[in-house]
Amino acid sequence: ILQLNQVSKNYRIGAANLSVLRDISFDIEEGATVAIVGPSGSGKTTLLGLCAGLDHCSEGTIVLNGISLHELNEDQLAQVRNAHVGFVFQNFQLLPTLTALENVLVPMELRGMKNMKNKAMDLLDKVGLSARMNHYPSQLSGGEQQRVSLARAFANSPKILFADEPTGNLDAETGLLVENLLFQLNEELGTTLVIVTHDMELAAKTQRIIPIRGGAII
Ligand code: ATP
Repeated sequence: ILQLNQVSKNYRIGAANLSVLRDISFDIEEGATVAIVGPSGSGKTTLLGLCAGLDHCSEGTIVLNGISLHELNEDQLAQVRNAHVGFVFQNFQLLPTLTALENVLVPMELRGMKNMKNKAMDLLDKVGLSARMNHYPSQLSGGEQQRVSLARAFANSPKILFADEPTGNLDAETGLLVENLLFQLNEELGTTLVIVTHDMELAAKTQRIIPIRGGAII
């Protein structure tokens, strides 16, 4: 479902050219679970962003679900993200002025999906939050907020879910809950999981680990 071939990423800062990723190549099969691990600053988040179509690579090719991301403009990339990709962040990134239900529903409506209230409620039920739908993020625990963000990430029935340190802000027990949910959704829905993590116990539960250091696969 995802093929990277000799991908590099450079950032231009003033006159300097900072090389963040170099010569990254890998294939991920549909339905697989993969962890990207490596020290802080090694380029994991940047790599995840390129794979998810949040940014363009500087060199190389990225093919997601048969679509060559490197050939697309920003609008087309956004369409691919809307159609095929889910994303979960370490800090949840829920909108504070919306309830749990609205946080799942509003992005669906912005994508032009209509009559989605039942689907949004089903998703919140799946992550065990049917009793918390009308709560605002500030009224939810960290684990509950991350479960809302999981429900939101699954709203477009993505083929692939990218998660950046999804348990990084949670205590061990809550992290385990969210982790189990991720793997459960992978099993039930066949969603490919690509997880960036420092947590080697979480990484060990995936089918494959991609270790990066200094912007390259080791
Ligand atoms: P962490 O585990 O600490 O989150 P990471 O492995 O995810 O780190 P990245 O966030 O991908 O690392 O950053 C890799 C390098 O790229 C860092 O040196 C960072 O400073 C640099 N970098 C990231 N984004 C930008 C940007 N927009 N402009 C310039 N440099 C950037």
